[in-house]
Amino acid sequence: MVDLKGQYKKIKAEIDAAVLDCIESTAFINGPAVKIFATSLAQHLDAARVIPCANGTDALQIAMMALGLERGDEIIVPAFTYIATAEVIGLLGLVPVMVDVDPRTFNITAEHIRKAITPKTKAVVPVHLFGQSADMESIMKLAAEHNLYVIEDTAQAIGAEYTFSDGRKQKVGTIGHIGCTSFFPSKNLGCYGDGGAIMTNDAQLGEKIQIIANHGQIKKYVHKYIGVNSRLDTLQAAILGVKLKYLNDYSAARRKAADYYDQQLNGIEGITVPVRASNSTHVFHQYTLKVAGNRDELKTFLESKGIPAMIYYPIPLNEQEAFQGLGRVEGSLDVTINLCQTVLSLPIHTEMDTAQQDYIIGGIKEFFK
Ligand SMILES: *Cc1c(COP(=O)(O)O)cnc(C)c1O
Repeated sequence: MVDLKGQYKKIKAEIDAAVLDCIESTAFINGPAVKIFATSLAQHLDAARVIPCANGTDALQIAMMALGLERGDEIIVPAFTYIATAEVIGLLGLVPVMVDVDPRTFNITAEHIRKAITPKTKAVVPVHLFGQSADMESIMKLAAEHNLYVIEDTAQAIGAEYTFSDGRKQKVGTIGHIGCTSFFPSKNLGCYGDGGAIMTNDAQLGEKIQIIANHGQIKKYVHKYIGVNSRLDTLQAAILGVKLKYLNDYSAARRKAADYYDQQLNGIEGITVPVRASNSTHVFHQYTLKVAGNRDELKTFLESKGIPAMIYYPIPLNEQEAFQGLGRVEGSLDVTINLCQTVLSLPIHTEMDTAQQDYIIGGIKEFFK
């Protein structure tokens, strides 16, 4: 599904030098590379503040801990997402309210959110699924009307850009009150282990988030909040510092591969290629088809030809055993249920060449012949 080795080989000299530097400095915890990377990422995204942390799940948890919520407060999430988005809500004694998503973009919309708002609703987590921004303008407007916090789950869409109706552009993760991202190796900006970050333009929230991520400590051995210990490893920060310089190229490479898939697969009866929203660039964390009727047969057929294809996600959140008796569903989840039965993600990464894609495309065409 990804080619991390091919990607590493192209930047090996720079990565190796950065890692060796870090080892020789022995500043393994909160070394200089961490701050340098945080500053570079803030500049790249045009965010006021970036707080690095240990992984994307922690980023979401810390963001929610910073909002001063009480047990029983509700947070609205899409039912079609990775478990981490909603898991931390349960962990914090809050109530995940799961809603349906748009059948074209797979993302939550203001309309889905509006119907789920109650007096207990305090926040909403739009997930920019598969690399494409949710419709943030209408979501921010609705959130302002109802006094809701917006926490963007940007784990799959770092670098994607959203365009407002007045033409203003902003990077995802910097539009809501807080943005959260993951540097898991296969993410669009991946490190060589675990990593994550939290973005915000709110100075007060930024300060609180930084404190919570470091044991709630305001100065040495003085602790204001119950916090967590969630740090980005210095080695990972050094690697990310190198890779951030290539993020725009990586996004372009993914988009180019997606364009080629589109061109070759569009029009094959039985499959729908990904829809590109007009107000967001798509950074194609996944290239996800909808396959009506025989998705599982296609997956098995491709596997028999040595082509990996993955189902993200096979089960709606509310059907997970972990969520039984926790949270609630608002409205019908018809779209989510349908997506779980029809989506199929093809390999896409920064190192794809046409020959690889032709082989995959050939397999799909053969199946539908
Ligand atoms: C990967 C991912 C996360 C969690 O990131 P980790 O670094 O693995 O903890 C959260 N949300 C979404 C949508 C993701 O894809």
